[in-house]
Amino acid sequence: MLVDNHIHNKYSKDAEGEISELKDVLIKKDLKQISITNHSTLPGKYSFDGDGGMIKKQIRDYKKDIETLRKKLPGKIINFGVEIDYIEGYEKYIKNYLEKFGFEFSLGSVHFIRGMWWDQTEKKFNELIETFGSVKKVIQEYYRLIRKISDLKIFDCISHFDYIKKANINNRFFSDEEEFYTREIKKTLDTLKKNNSVIEVNTSGLFAEIKEQYPSFKILKMCQKKKIPVTLGSDAHKKEDIGKGFNHIVPELKKIGFEKIVMFNKHQKSLCDF
Ligand SMILES: [Zn+2]
Ligand SMILES: [Zn+2]
Repeated sequence: MLVDNHIHNKYSKDAEGEISELKDVLIKKDLKQISITNHSTLPGKYSFDGDGGMIKKQIRDYKKDIETLRKKLPGKIINFGVEIDYIEGYEKYIKNYLEKFGFEFSLGSVHFIRGMWWDQTEKKFNELIETFGSVKKVIQEYYRLIRKISDLKIFDCISHFDYIKKANINNRFFSDEEEFYTREIKKTLDTLKKNNSVIEVNTSGLFAEIKEQYPSFKILKMCQKKKIPVTLGSDAHKKEDIGKGFNHIVPELKKIGFEKIVMFNKHQKSLCDF
């Protein structure tokens, strides 16, 4: 039995597809629970041409589409969710946004570093190094933001935990074996453990140039030892990608020692077999 807690569709400006089309997908892929997690609307000064954020006026329609789908699939759990862009200093905006629209599930994501949209490319990573002075400082800043997401305790799940590696093809910027990197991961996982945070195993990285899920197996092994629970997310931006990579990742998670994964029903967590 599988879950997918990271799905985008046409309400994210960078994604496509109707919610009604998910009916057949859920049945075909035997997904018991999903969360549709369209990108949050960016605060005015951070929005830009080509951002994926939802148009506020459309959020009511988004919710209605989910209610219609639920009626057609009474045996499935479908959360009306959002992937929040965490921008430091905008905690109040985020809390209001979550409450105002009544989202039933939220992912906390770091796509901005020091207010700078970071598109996970090599070019942008180089700009970050210039801004911060070294690769080490960029990494430390990224994981500091992940710890803040966890400490806020307003998100149901933390998405793509080690996303900072996306442009690190063939370790061109750093190696996760370096001592400072491992230290940062340990510190961050300690914070997650303290806050009972859940981590998403995001399979989209398997199909990107980095060819690895977020987070790496090294980090997932550390999570398993610390008993930090995980859930699954495909980060699909079109319906064909829903649940993509799960066939590969599920046996790997079992090998590491995970016996259950987290499912969500309107903020309520429970563990399920997978
Ligand atoms: Zn994301
Ligand atoms: Zn996403």
